[in-house]
Amino acid sequence: MDAKALTEETYHLILIMKKITLLSLLAVVACQSPTNEAEPNATAFALDNLDTNAAACEDFFQYTSGGWREANPIPETEVRWGEFNKLAEANKQKIKVLFEEVTKGSYEKGSDEQLIGDLVTSGMDSTSRNERGTAELSSYLEEVDQVVSLEELFALMARNKFAGISGPISVYVSTDAKNSNAHALYVGQSGIGLPDRDYYLKSDEESAQLQQKYRDHISAMGDLLESPIDAQEIYELEYALASAMKSRVEMRDADARYNLMTQVDWQNLAPSLPIEAFMAELSLFASGPELATEEVVNSSPEFYSRLELVLATFDLAVWKDYHKWHIIKGASSALNDALEIQDFEFYQKTLNGKPKMNPRWKRVQGSTGMLGQQVGHLYVKRFFSEESKAEVEQMVENLREAFRGRIDQLNWMTPETKVKARKKLDAFTYKIGYPDTWKDISDLEISKDSYFANMKEMQHYFTKENLQKLDQPVDKSEWGMGAHIVNAYYNPLNNEVVFPAGILQPPFYNPDADAAINYGAIGGVIGHEFSHGFDDQGSKYGPDGNLENWWTDQDKSQFDSLTERLASQYDAYEVLPDVHVNGHLTLGENIADLGGLTLAYYAYQNYKSTKEVAPVDGFTDDQRVFLGWAQVWQSNAREEYLKNQVTTDPHSPAQFRVSGPVSNMPEFREAFGCESGNNLKEEGTEIIIW
Ligand SMILES: [Zn+2]
Repeated sequence: MDAKALTEETYHLILIMKKITLLSLLAVVACQSPTNEAEPNATAFALDNLDTNAAACEDFFQYTSGGWREANPIPETEVRWGEFNKLAEANKQKIKVLFEEVTKGSYEKGSDEQLIGDLVTSGMDSTSRNERGTAELSSYLEEVDQVVSLEELFALMARNKFAGISGPISVYVSTDAKNSNAHALYVGQSGIGLPDRDYYLKSDEESAQLQQKYRDHISAMGDLLESPIDAQEIYELEYALASAMKSRVEMRDADARYNLMTQVDWQNLAPSLPIEAFMAELSLFASGPELATEEVVNSSPEFYSRLELVLATFDLAVWKDYHKWHIIKGASSALNDALEIQDFEFYQKTLNGKPKMNPRWKRVQGSTGMLGQQVGHLYVKRFFSEESKAEVEQMVENLREAFRGRIDQLNWMTPETKVKARKKLDAFTYKIGYPDTWKDISDLEISKDSYFANMKEMQHYFTKENLQKLDQPVDKSEWGMGAHIVNAYYNPLNNEVVFPAGILQPPFYNPDADAAINYGAIGGVIGHEFSHGFDDQGSKYGPDGNLENWWTDQDKSQFDSLTERLASQYDAYEVLPDVHVNGHLTLGENIADLGGLTLAYYAYQNYKSTKEVAPVDGFTDDQRVFLGWAQVWQSNAREEYLKNQVTTDPHSPAQFRVSGPVSNMPEFREAFGCESGNNLKEEGTEIIIW
């Protein structure tokens, strides 16, 4: 469901996810035949959560979560807190127990238990970590000192890519968006230390203060390493990189991101950029020093064109300081307490408003993301029931059937395009729970000794694994997320929806709840992921996961005008005084929320068919579909976090994930008997996309 879960995933996963442009968050489970239909459990939706002073038709978010929000203040170690986070927290507690077990036992080298146990042991060993201090980073910084040319520096940056250190050139292997059975080498824009280019480009007073705090942070980190670096110069270089970047909204455009070019064409964009020196270090080839491909897919040619000027503006000394800063930044959670605290002070407290650092066990657990497959394996062995897998499978098919019905009745789409949409919908595959086969990484070297060395070893292992895929066929059975993760995604390149075991629990799927609640919650999430295949970007991919146009011009233009109206609606939403949702950044997610809740509603209608369902706690079953969706989004958030979210997160803040979709649903108006309401569109003006 959101960016937070993603950041806890590993570097390796992030590489994959970058390609999953619509990766979503959310999702999950379902219920085919809720068990206690006759006597639903009252806690399926607790009435205490309501704010009965608010009216459902006026402010459905406040109405459904006002009581919850009063009773659930944000813990000091969190930036936002909701039902979603509570589930994620419960999962962390379960994994904590698993980790405590594997750190105590003795296991075969290379087994999941050995890898995780030794990694966690090294991370929890605060005595050794503090004794070593920052000494293990010294050789990295000394290497930079010895560099005498830009060519050498970029070659070093490429070698340090294997240590997880980022720079201006982003390179990774992923499925070729125009040939989904093969891999392509992608290059893109990167290399800034603030979360988005907009943090550099804004000039209001609050932004200027934040920029100063960032420079102070760079200096403080340099001081801790006893490695003087010029924060002002580094900032100016990053500012120039940020200015060269395309915006997040521009980067969402799947067509604009696909620019197949030769390495020579790439070089011509930035003649002074040492591309050859950089690429030569990457060993993108199983055998020999030549690139396995001479072509790259460049997601931001604009960035490389503008980089030429950046290269001419800054001298080698600044570039060297810049790279040192990123070496230090990349190691901030793997060395001593002093570094970790300083990093927390800026990235968590200042940028996101988090008052207090998480305990060590949670920080170390967060750093096991690169072993996500192995953690997921331990998790499902202990905590996942095959029964829920079967139930969710049935729910997914019910949602697909509802989507077929929606496509058939659309009045804005011609029969010709409907046939194509159906074809894509029928081709959707799904993964539920956990992978059929578990990946063997028993040759990974992890020991109880050095946490820092373990982190570098994993970065190296998974970066190499990613690059070596270039000349291998695509393994469509691969998972982009650990099975324990409370999240879900749609991958347009596989045309698949994926629901890990972690999210198949309340509030998403509650076996004790009435069917209407489960359809609104889990059903809404499944519908959300399906709808990503038909959002403004997902709809550019065909049934086989290739970027190809299956629309007539007329239908495409109808679709675009509907989605533009939705973008305008969300642009008007005010999160804080003068802070608005970015309707184009969040467009894909907002289409998926609207589509998801609509599909959930109709899947429920199919499910109950002609049965009469008695009200529960005074709410009709149709009303409870909407309560189920709203319950997932009950939450509080810190102001700093919200400001960060609207700049960087493709998901709208929780309140608009509730009020946005219901405002466009005549089905909601009817269920609650609304004649009018602040949150509702005038009758007949609703934006109905799917
Ligand atoms: Zn999504």
